[in-house]
Amino acid sequence: MSFKASKYPQHLAKTSPQALGLEVESAKGSYLWDKNGKRYIDLIAGISVMNLGHQHPAIVAAVKNQMDRYAHVMVYGEFVEDNTRQLSEKLNSCLPKQLNCSYFVNSGTEANEAAVKLARRHTGRSKIISFRGAYHGSTLGSLSISGNEKKKSSFRPLIPDVEFINLNEHRELEKIDGNTAAVILEPIQGDAGVRIASNEYMLALRAKCDEHGALLIFDEVQSGIGRTGKLYAFMHSEVVPDILTSGKALGGGLPIGCLISSQEIMSSFSSDPMLGHISTFGGNPVACAAALAVLTEVNDSTILDHVEAKGALLESHLQHPKIREIRRKGLMLAIDLASEEMVESLIFKALDRGLILFWFLSQAQSFRIAPPLNIDDQDLIESAEIIKEILDEIV
Ligand code: PLP
Repeated sequence: MSFKASKYPQHLAKTSPQALGLEVESAKGSYLWDKNGKRYIDLIAGISVMNLGHQHPAIVAAVKNQMDRYAHVMVYGEFVEDNTRQLSEKLNSCLPKQLNCSYFVNSGTEANEAAVKLARRHTGRSKIISFRGAYHGSTLGSLSISGNEKKKSSFRPLIPDVEFINLNEHRELEKIDGNTAAVILEPIQGDAGVRIASNEYMLALRAKCDEHGALLIFDEVQSGIGRTGKLYAFMHSEVVPDILTSGKALGGGLPIGCLISSQEIMSSFSSDPMLGHISTFGGNPVACAAALAVLTEVNDSTILDHVEAKGALLESHLQHPKIREIRRKGLMLAIDLASEEMVESLIFKALDRGLILFWFLSQAQSFRIAPPLNIDDQDLIESAEIIKEILDEIV
């Protein structure tokens, strides 16, 4: 079943046999409009990107201002540009003191690739430990450290010396040893269907990494920028990573990725070899202007104070006999149904009724909800009612 899949533009590459196919005219706040003027409530936010909603005035103004000055003048790491510098200072002021050095790249996957390179270069070791169910991106390196075998097998050989362990299983931490360059963890696994690392587990993981001199990388590309009610999900715990990766919502709709570490660790990229990671568009001033506006808004407004309450409100309205389980932190939700077919049917019927939902990559029996963080309570309640009406209909 597909919505206008045959109409998907002929000269545009497809990523699946079926596409939602919504032809977008405009977007504002928590709504999208199609070419026929039909309105949709956006419960996905471009897959956890538009955390402040569409067309947030502060982001639009920041981007326009920078475009009036210039768009691009140099590759990353040579010139000093206002927004790029200010964004690094802003991140420094928001994060624990050891995370004081930012490297801006273009996407989440590039941030993770660079983080793995940095860990290998810094420790002189090669082994990377990742988690079953993890998703770190679609380029070869990030695919190698992602857990979904179905998505990986056609692209082998991938990078060697990667091992996988189960989230929250303490005894598997024994795999971390003196050969381990880094462990990479999503503190809340996104595409595995919102699987949350316990604080106790994160503490044990941190201790094991310290014991063996392995670096701890947290991938917060999806869980970052307020999605769970804190700027980054690791801030709910007592554990600080050696390297933090960010992306998606950081750019408020413009493409940006970022890895953040200490000055000492990050300095490994500037020698032996120098230019250890380079990027033409990394630190792009327009993307950094947008990101600076996002962080300023998240910090200076009360938006984060309401995320948990909004998530709880939605969850309380999503009680239905066909919903098997809801996993949630803030406004990051996975909702389990009985089958993949039910999820499929729900997503297309919801679209028909003006509600945007979406799948997970590695969890076919669940659907995701990740709306703008400032979505109206009334829109959450209305959305839950539509979902329940559809669930009444489908078998
Ligand atoms: N890491 C996580 C946790 C993600 O959810 C994603 C994207 O969904 C990525 C990395 C890859 O980010 P990008 O698509 O910007 O390359």
